[in-house]
Amino acid sequence: MIIFKSAEGLSAHLYLLKKEGKKIGFVPTMGALHKGHMSLIDKSCRGNNVTVCSIFINPTQFTNKADFHHYPVTIESDIESLQRAGCDILFLPAQREIYNASYVAGHYELGKLEVLLEGHYRPGHFQGVCQVVDRLLQIIPASTLYLGQKDYQQCMVIARLLQITGREKEVELAIVPTMRQPDGLALSSRNLRLSPAEQEQATAISEVLYATKSNLASGNFGVLKEEAFKFLTARGFSVDYIEIADARTLEAASGVEQPLVALVAASLGGIRLIDNLILN
Ligand code: AMP
Repeated sequence: MIIFKSAEGLSAHLYLLKKEGKKIGFVPTMGALHKGHMSLIDKSCRGNNVTVCSIFINPTQFTNKADFHHYPVTIESDIESLQRAGCDILFLPAQREIYNASYVAGHYELGKLEVLLEGHYRPGHFQGVCQVVDRLLQIIPASTLYLGQKDYQQCMVIARLLQITGREKEVELAIVPTMRQPDGLALSSRNLRLSPAEQEQATAISEVLYATKSNLASGNFGVLKEEAFKFLTARGFSVDYIEIADARTLEAASGVEQPLVALVAASLGGIRLIDNLILN
């Protein structure tokens, strides 16, 4: 695996490969890699000639600065995991490589996607996500961009970013299913900050999602959401939202005739967890 720290060096290398007709798969991450991330790397390695993973903890997408400063960093084991998985290139930029002196933050027109759910609780978050992905795609001429369904709203936002930046045709978006522990807990870098007891409690999130899916036929979404809220609150969570939404727009849904996704954000001992499940 080649490690690039310079955006210019990486770009020059990749544009040559692209000219030779190589397919480039790109997996953006913030590191602290786990099996969920590695499932994206695997998919990319199988579908492309070259796989690039980036590790960059992007300051502009953190609304809570303490969260940014406490974000886990496990770079040595990340490098080992990527090597073992057959990743070809790791991009490990310093902040100035991404946001250099001439960088001017643009505004991305994301519509309601920006203010619903995560957007409501983390104002500015999706603008920050778009800034970094837009910049990374300037550096990395990806044929396919791999994102995890774990961050469902982020996937919808990036689909919009590809549209509004005119990259829809050149960059394919591949959404990879969420990888879970055998007990259902979605793998997340933030799980590292939960105590063993909290990790066990945290399985309640996937439990409510699967229960919502099983009981969908009962039809009353208000009741389903209320039950899910009570279940999580009784298990010590502070719940930001539980929504049953249209899987494309993420607006609250009321009937089963549209594609549906259930989304949850809830904190345990100050650690905020998100998860989602496609319902139909
Ligand atoms: P992050 O490092 O948290 O920014 O995540 C990098 C990518 O890995 C994002 O596209 C995430 O959605 C994806 N990802 C995170 N957790 C999982 C998981 N449990 N299963 C699949 N993909 C995941």
